[in-house]
Amino acid sequence: MKYISTRGDQTQRGFAEILLEGLAPDGGLYLPTHYPKVDDATLTKWRGLSYAELAFEILSLYIDDIPAADLKALTAKTYTKAVYGFDEITPLKHLEPGLCLQALSNGPTLAFKDMAMQLLGNLFEYELGRRGESLNILGATSGDTGSAAEYAMRGKKGVRVFMLSPNGRMSPFQQAQMFSLQDPNIHNIAVEGVFDDCQDIVKAVSNDLAFKRQYKIGTVNSINWARLLAQVVYYFAGYFYATKANTEKVSFTVPSGNFGNVCAGHVARMMGLPVDQLVVATNENNVLDEFFRTGTYRVRGTAETYETSSPSMDISKASNFERFVFDLLGRDGAACKALFKDAVEKQGGFTLPAETFAKVPGYGFASGTSNHANRLDTIRATFEADGTLIDTHTADGLKVAREHMKPGTTMIVLETALPAKFEETIVEATGQRPARPHWISGLDGLEQLPKRFVVCPKDTQWVKDYVVQHCQD
Ligand SMILES: *Cc1c(COP(=O)(O)O)cnc(C)c1O
Repeated sequence: MKYISTRGDQTQRGFAEILLEGLAPDGGLYLPTHYPKVDDATLTKWRGLSYAELAFEILSLYIDDIPAADLKALTAKTYTKAVYGFDEITPLKHLEPGLCLQALSNGPTLAFKDMAMQLLGNLFEYELGRRGESLNILGATSGDTGSAAEYAMRGKKGVRVFMLSPNGRMSPFQQAQMFSLQDPNIHNIAVEGVFDDCQDIVKAVSNDLAFKRQYKIGTVNSINWARLLAQVVYYFAGYFYATKANTEKVSFTVPSGNFGNVCAGHVARMMGLPVDQLVVATNENNVLDEFFRTGTYRVRGTAETYETSSPSMDISKASNFERFVFDLLGRDGAACKALFKDAVEKQGGFTLPAETFAKVPGYGFASGTSNHANRLDTIRATFEADGTLIDTHTADGLKVAREHMKPGTTMIVLETALPAKFEETIVEATGQRPARPHWISGLDGLEQLPKRFVVCPKDTQWVKDYVVQHCQD
């Protein structure tokens, strides 16, 4: 399998090459040249596999430059009960007839980002080892991505993580999770500013190409194709858990921000997974809902991006959305570039005519939005029904899912975080303090552990100097 850019550069690259890269050189995102089709016989064969075996089968369709035996060992090492708490890795929980949750948040940092990041950590270590190279990952986080990256990369050979976060602005749990790590290859840098300041520093460092090359700076953000590919696996797993025969269809509702999670669902459907609807659920930051209702994609600025009680979805520029639009446009790279380089950068967005949607059959997307009051109501009602506690992002998904259910088609809501991660709102809704998962050690008393971090000014040069001083450790 080879990979191309969404912006028209026709150079074809292998998986191992794009693994360690962020954007394509022309500023586009990488996608495979085509989506391998999975037929009925293959679906039947895959039904009986363990999660790790299923991951290997799906990944091997997209990766031909890592020997099969090595890839098999990597997936087996990644998707274990020890890490994810359950044999099924992403088990279903039935809420009521035709409606269930799929748990994607049982990994070490209690959010679905672990599903892909854990694999990425193992792939990075493997590929860097094979090349005899090392990589300094520089990132910015408001909470979930940073902790998932650090738990995936801690102790990995050849990888160092420099993670910027806004000083004092993460939840106490998120901060304790990251700052309590004592691994020498993990560096927490608390910036005296907000998330956007952290992001700006990362961009400024990445734009200094000479520095980036000399100090081998890399990223693990959600545009990385390997992360998206890892996420395709749980759509297949969820389908197999929810159905008995390949003639059945299911729908998925996905709490969305950067469009990374639901984009993996799109890829799964393009491969032939029998999915009826993909429902995009947003919070008060409803850029994507607006697009799927009206065809208009209008990026919002910082001032128009609201801070909500489902903070991992407080995103107003969905970085993975370009991949879906590329497919929607019949994979016309020049047209895609005109929208994302010219229209988004110059006019802040674009509108796709209704014919563009109509032309492409099978693109069945639906969408909806949720707010703080909806979130509280949904968390409370779900708890009162049978004692199930859900987190705020999953609540946005469940609220929207109920608006799109169809008789005869199971609706699967992706659970993207555990309630223990967003305690405050759960207590507000139910008066209950959610339990922390027992299969993850060290969570009780986490906030009391010694913290390892440095505070830095809003200063790009300071961060560069810090990387230079610590990239030989
Ligand atoms: C990252 C995240 C999301 C949004 O996922 P995208 O791939 O950015 O759409 C939703 N919920 C939680 C808990 C997350 O951490």
